[in-house]
Amino acid sequence: MADVFTQTVILGSSMGCIRTSRCSRRKRRRWWEIVIVVWEVTVVSEIIIVCDALETFLDGMKYKLRLKNSLRRRFSNVFHWYQVLTVLAQDHISTLVISSWKDGAPVDQPSDYLRSWCPLCFGGNNWRNETRDSLPMPDVIVCIDVCFTQKRSANPRSATGSDPPNPTPSFFLPTDDVKAMEDFVERCHGDRRQARTSRAEPDEDSYEEGMRIPVSVLNGCGDSFIAADEKREKASTRFFTDTGLMALVCRHDHVLWIANLTSAGEKQHYALALLDWLFKHIPTQMTIGLLYDIGCQLERSCRKWSFLDDSTLSCIAFAVAVFHAYGHQWLCQIVYHPRKREGFSLSDGEGCEWLWSFLKPLIPSLCVSGSNQRLFVLDTQIRHLDSKSLQGFGHWLHRRWIHCQSKKNDALDRLHELELDKNMLRVEWNVRNS
Ligand SMILES: [Zn+2]
Ligand SMILES: [Zn+2]
Repeated sequence: MADVFTQTVILGSSMGCIRTSRCSRRKRRRWWEIVIVVWEVTVVSEIIIVCDALETFLDGMKYKLRLKNSLRRRFSNVFHWYQVLTVLAQDHISTLVISSWKDGAPVDQPSDYLRSWCPLCFGGNNWRNETRDSLPMPDVIVCIDVCFTQKRSANPRSATGSDPPNPTPSFFLPTDDVKAMEDFVERCHGDRRQARTSRAEPDEDSYEEGMRIPVSVLNGCGDSFIAADEKREKASTRFFTDTGLMALVCRHDHVLWIANLTSAGEKQHYALALLDWLFKHIPTQMTIGLLYDIGCQLERSCRKWSFLDDSTLSCIAFAVAVFHAYGHQWLCQIVYHPRKREGFSLSDGEGCEWLWSFLKPLIPSLCVSGSNQRLFVLDTQIRHLDSKSLQGFGHWLHRRWIHCQSKKNDALDRLHELELDKNMLRVEWNVRNS
């Protein structure tokens, strides 16, 4: 009841400025009844459709609204700021709850944000992977992917009016941080190019420092993936101000952070900016398994251009996402395929695809919206998806556990039928991976 009351008060104060041509006390009361009904319908359906229908209805009753789309605009504004208030209230409550957890909690823990956002990945008091005997066996698994369909036009029609910034917490990385990473990457390229001019190019079949596959294989992977070509134009910056999204999600498909893309190609500094934020939020000893369509290329760049320091690099196990794995060279698959790489279990690295699918209906409207409005709507939708999946974590765990057990039993049965010595197989496997 309090919720409906709050909504009605906010709406009433905003609607007070809509004037009609004739408005007796009886009609005003009727008007308020209509307003309340419409508000309750509006919060669960399309604002445009409801408001158009109401304007037609009022017109038929000789109530003339003086401005074109006045009702829709006011309903939209009211609904927007009501959502802002709701988010801020929820955020305030979460802060209070988290501060009460802190008493007695171990010090060496991921940030409060991560612990509250995905309790399965970051919420436990002991986050260390008990089976880990050497680095970089991952303690947590995350994946990165890009979507170039979530664009925003350079001349959006709806953005000509006001587009105020929203005071709510956001999943989007600050623009300054992304720009700082872009400048850092440029600097690294410049420094290393100067150092390399005096040296001869490495032999095609040699190994670059820190890499476990030869240069020729890495070049083959790089040539076969459009994503690996940073200069390849995937969205025109002439027609679009924002060209796409890059998300970092955990293995439970929870969005941790998103970078808003403004370049024409899939630049590596976006992925590095996301990783930088992740490492600011986790303990120094925590290792991550990173699944990315072009994980091999990202590791190569990090080592070749010194994008990440050695201590950070030693905490990352790079792998390629399952759907893209077979596009990589065979030698690359042996090292980077998550099914062949220890510690990734059944994670496929395709969590972002679910996210893009859920966000797809927003593409037409966000393409022509204001910049702040676009980010706010995406934030709201992602927050909704994450809180919905949080409620289903118990079911998720149960389903995955059953699936995992059946896979394991199936594999053990097949192994038993082959009557091969397990130790011999393990030795051969290690030889192939070395
Ligand atoms: Zn998670
Ligand atoms: Zn590869």
